[in-house]
Parts: sequence; C-alpha cells; structure tokens
Amino acid sequence: MIVILKDHPNEKQLNNLKAWLGSMDLAIHESAGVNHRILGLVGDTSKVDIDLIRALDIVEDVKRIQEPFKNANRKFHPLDTRIEVGENAAIGGGGFCVIAGPCSVEGEEQIVSIAKAVKAAGASMLRGGAFKPRTSPYAFQGLREQGLRFLLAAKRETGLPVVTEIMDLSQLPLFEEIDLIQVGARNMQNFEMLKELGRLQKPILLKRGLANTLEELLMSAEYIMAGGNERVILCERGIRTFETYTRNTMDISAIPSLKALTHLPVLADPSHATGRSALVRPMALAAAAAGADGLIIEVHNDPQRALCDGPQSITPKEFEAVMLGVNAILNATRKGEQEQAS
Ligand code: PEP
Ligand code: MN
Repeated sequence: MIVILKDHPNEKQLNNLKAWLGSMDLAIHESAGVNHRILGLVGDTSKVDIDLIRALDIVEDVKRIQEPFKNANRKFHPLDTRIEVGENAAIGGGGFCVIAGPCSVEGEEQIVSIAKAVKAAGASMLRGGAFKPRTSPYAFQGLREQGLRFLLAAKRETGLPVVTEIMDLSQLPLFEEIDLIQVGARNMQNFEMLKELGRLQKPILLKRGLANTLEELLMSAEYIMAGGNERVILCERGIRTFETYTRNTMDISAIPSLKALTHLPVLADPSHATGRSALVRPMALAAAAAGADGLIIEVHNDPQRALCDGPQSITPKEFEAVMLGVNAILNATRKGEQEQAS
C-alpha cells in the first residue's frame, strides 16, 4: 500500500500517522516522488482502513500495490535508485557503469594486467570469479581464497572496486573487502542465502536465474531488501530457450520491463547471455539502447587459453571497441530523450 502525501504536510500530523501505522506492525518506507512524498507500507495491510487514511488532511491519495514485490516496486520509490559501490563508483540514478574482467581469477599478474587494461578503456569496476559454479566437477573450480587475495591486489593496484561471486554462505567471512557481492544465476533462489545477505550493508549484484521470470527475480530482490539491505542491483544474463546457437537467449525486453517495474538499477551481461565473443559488442550496444544502467562483460588477456568461459571472453582491445560503441549509443539515446522532453 502507498500513501501519497499532500505538498508540505503538517509534520506533527505526519508523525502521528506514522506512529499509528507503526503500531499496526507495518514497516514504513518513505521516499520522494516526482511531485509528492510517498509512504510505502510493508506488512499485513489487509486490516488498514483506506478511507480513514484518505480522509486525513495531509493525504492526497492511498493505493494498494497489487504486485507481490513491495520494497523493490517503482510505485514505492518512483525515482531511480543510485547505489554507491566502494569509494568511487555508483550504479543507477542516470549514470552508466561498466564492470569488466575475466570470468575467473587465474593468477595475480593476469588479474592485475586485465584490471589496468579495462580501467584504461573506461571500466569503473573489476570482476573476477574466485569461487566458480561449474557444470562439471572436473572443470576448474576457481582459485578460491587465493583468487580473492589476487583480486584484492588488483583493487589496490588500480583503485577499481571489485565484484565477485559468493556460492555458499560459509564463504561470507572472506568477502569483507569485496565491494559488490554477486549472487549468480544458479543461486538466485537460494532463499536462505538471500536472507543472510539482507542483513549486510553491502551492495548485492543479483543475476537472473536461467529459467526465472522477472517477477521471480524481483521477489528474490525483495528477500534481500526485506532484511534491511536495500542495495540490490539486478542483472539480465540470458535465459534458457530452445535455441542452441547461443549459450542462452538474451532477453533485451527484460531491461525496459524491469526499469518500469522497479527503481533498482539494471545491468546486462552480454557475455553469459550469448556465450560467443562476437556477439558481445552488438548485445552490449542493444542493452545500452534499451536503457540498461550498465554492463558486466568478461574480458581476458588470452581468451583461447582461459580456464573458464574463453569462447565468450573478449580481449582488452575488443573491450575498447565495445566502450566506444556504447558511448556513441548513450550519446545518441540521451540526446534523443532530451529532444523528446523539450
Ligand atoms: C559469472 O558471472 O561468471 C557467472 C557464472 O554468471 P552467471 O551466474 O550469470 O552464470
Ligand atoms: Mn563466466
């Protein structure tokens, strides 16, 4: 349920209203809309008398939210949410953030050199897996703790905030210095993990599951937010369809759909979505044109010898070309948006 307040509400009456709502065990989420302040109410609102609230001097309107996701709902928080990551990066709120790096950390020299290259090309965050979810138990599983240490060495060397995947809650104590924790596609509905991450005050990158709907993705975000951690970033990374030419099918329409449904930032991952390096640039451009808040892209110094996801990894040089293309798209679409608004 949302309560839309009139302009300049009497603060004493507002405090009384909040105290009364609080006494009914409802959590109150206050935010600014384009024109009005909004109180979002989470909890069992079935017994709330809408007409009583609507009749108050300070209230413009009251609406029930039909969707099962509340904290993540754009109706609760009409403006885009901007999430600060580390000391010098942010995702959402109008900027465009590019995260780049190898699928997995393979060595200190490798991750440091890729970090320098992607930073020079304009990336604002570094990715690199230390714990890898692999289909085969015989495939490279990641360098684990050592991989995290190498990733942090690259962070110190370049100043780039780092993102890496957690596969199990037992690994959480190792993630203290990690700036953005990734929940991978395979763990999107690991509800116990989501609840625990909801207790942190650290941003979470939540990737869409291989066979999950947008509503299920938003409900997983809701698990994290319900625990008090509102710093959730969503990521479209392709879904399973009957097509086998690409590793997954990139659901470009998920981007504007999510942007309409939620205020949370939305990233796109053209690497896992396609599984083919030649498709990374066109899909990155398409995602930027569709309104994504940023990208996460796999970049490897020597894709043919990569220990994981080589066929979808691009070289630092190819990454430069992606950045040029993306910037051209952003300039064109933002100019288009301004012209439409004027
Ligand atoms: C990854 O980012 O390397 C990864 C395994 O992603 P996903 O969970 O989307 O497959
Ligand atoms: Mn990968």
